[in-house]
Amino acid sequence: MDQTLQERLHLVLEQQRAAFRAEMAPSREVRLDRLERVRRMTAQHSEALVKAISADFGHRARQETLLADIFTVESGARHAQKHLRDWMRPRRQPTALHFQPARNLLMRQPLGVVGVVAPWNYPYYLALGPAVGALAAGNRVMIKPSELTPRTGELMAAMVAEFFAPEEMTVVNGEAELARAFTALPFDHLCFTGSTAVGRIVAQAAAQNLTPVTLELGGKSPALVDRSCDLKLTASRIAHGKLFNAGQTCVAPDYLLVPKDMVEPLVQEIRGAMRRLYPKIAGNPDYTHIATPRHLARLRGLLDDARAKGAKIIPSHEEKTVGRGLVPQLLLGVNEQMTVMQEEIFGPLLPIVPYVEVDHALAYINRHDKPLALYWFGRDAAMREHVLSQTQAGGVTVNDCIWHLGQEEQPFGGVGASGMGAYHGEFGFRSFSKEKPVFHQSRWAGTRLFFPPYGKTFDRLLGLLKKIA
Ligand code: NAD
Repeated sequence: MDQTLQERLHLVLEQQRAAFRAEMAPSREVRLDRLERVRRMTAQHSEALVKAISADFGHRARQETLLADIFTVESGARHAQKHLRDWMRPRRQPTALHFQPARNLLMRQPLGVVGVVAPWNYPYYLALGPAVGALAAGNRVMIKPSELTPRTGELMAAMVAEFFAPEEMTVVNGEAELARAFTALPFDHLCFTGSTAVGRIVAQAAAQNLTPVTLELGGKSPALVDRSCDLKLTASRIAHGKLFNAGQTCVAPDYLLVPKDMVEPLVQEIRGAMRRLYPKIAGNPDYTHIATPRHLARLRGLLDDARAKGAKIIPSHEEKTVGRGLVPQLLLGVNEQMTVMQEEIFGPLLPIVPYVEVDHALAYINRHDKPLALYWFGRDAAMREHVLSQTQAGGVTVNDCIWHLGQEEQPFGGVGASGMGAYHGEFGFRSFSKEKPVFHQSRWAGTRLFFPPYGKTFDRLLGLLKKIA
C-alpha cells in the first residue's frame, strides 16, 4: 500500500483524535452547533448537490435527490437537535436491594473518531446520515464517499471543509486503494454502508484494530403479496418502491412472492402503475438512470441469463432503452438457477415468484440470506402476524415499500447477511456512544461484611443473599 497515502490518513485521524482528547465531553451547545452547521451546509448547497449527483448518475431525478438525499439529512439533524438533551442525559438504573443505598447510573459517552464509508446510490444521505448520529453523540467524523460518485465526493469535501474544521469532520476521496487504507484505520467506530461482499472485507479490516462496526449491507428484499390485499394499491406501491432511483435502493423490493392465480392480474396492474408513474422512460426527467455503464451491463446480463434459462420477460413500456434509462422489466417463470434470483438486483427488474401455500413462500424466504427489508401486502391481520413472526428481516413496511427507512424513532439496520448494528435517531446516538455503567458506592455499603478474614458472617450473609437476590 502507498505509504504516503496511509500516513496522510493516519495524520488526519491523529489530528481528530487529539482534538477529541482535548474535549472529551462536548457540551450540548457544541453538538447543537455542529448539527446546525450540517443543516445550513445542506440547505446552502442543495442545488449543487442535485447537479453533482445527477452528473454522477448520468441523470438523477431532481425530486429524488431533494427527498432522499437532502430532506433526509436535514430532518435527521433537526430530530437530533430536538432530542439531544434527553439523549445525553445519564440514565438512572435500578440497584438491587443488597447493593443499596448505592446508585447505578448509565453514562452516554462519545467514542472518539467515527469513520463513515458511503456507497454511491444515495451518496449524500448515506454519508451525512450516519455522521449526524456520530456528531450528536459528540464524536469527530471522517467520511469516505464512493469513488463512483466523484463529483458528489468532491463537492462534499468542499462543503464540509467550508463548514467544519478538519478535526471536527472531514471528507477524504480516492479510489479503491484509499478505501482499503481508510477501513484499515484504527477508528473508535466504523459505519460502513455498501454491499455484503465488501462488508465482509471491511469487517475483517476493522477486526485487526478491534474497531466496532455498524454494517449497513444489502441483499434480496422480498415483497410478499397476500390474497387479502388491495391489488391496485399494492401494484402502485410496489411500482413506486421498485422504480424510485431506478431500483438502486438498498431497501427496494427485489422480487415478489404472489399467490399463483393472482400473478396475471398483478402483472397487468404493476405495468399500468409503472406507466402512470412514468408515462415514458426515454427523456423523462423523473426517471433516474443506471449509475454507470458497468451497472447497466450487469443488469442486461441478468436479463440475458434469465431469458436463456427460460424466463418470460415483460417490459413495462413499449419502448427501447435509450442510454442508461433502463426500461423496467417484469420477469416470470424464474428459478434459482438464474443469476437474477441469486444476486441483489439493484435496478428496475422485477422477478415474480408464484406460491400456492403461504408457508411455501415463507420457507423460500427463510432458506435464503436474511433480507434487509421485507414487505407484506394484505388486510388479513392474522396472516400478517403469522408472516411477521415466521420471517426475519432488517426492517418491515406493511402495505407499502421503503418507508420504514424514513422513521427516526425506529432503528434502521440489517440482520445476518444484510448487516449488523443500527442507526437513525436515538439508535444512532447509542451506536456511536459508549454506554458506560457507573456504580456509585455508598459510604454505608454492606459490602465490607464480605471482606476477609472469612468466617461465619460471610457464610450467613451468602446464605441470606441467595434467598433475596
Ligand atoms: P460497495 O460495497 O461496492 O461500496 C461501498 C463502499 O465501500 C464504497 O465507498 C467503496 O469505495 C468502498 N469499498 C469498495 N471496496 C472496498 C474495499 N475492498 N475495502 C474497503 N472499502 C471498499 O457498494 P455500492 O455498490 O457502493 O452500493 C451498493 C450496495 O450497498 C448494495 O448492496 C446496497 O444494498 C447496499 N446499500 C445498503 C444500504 C443500507 O443502508 N443497508 C444503503 C445503500 C446501499
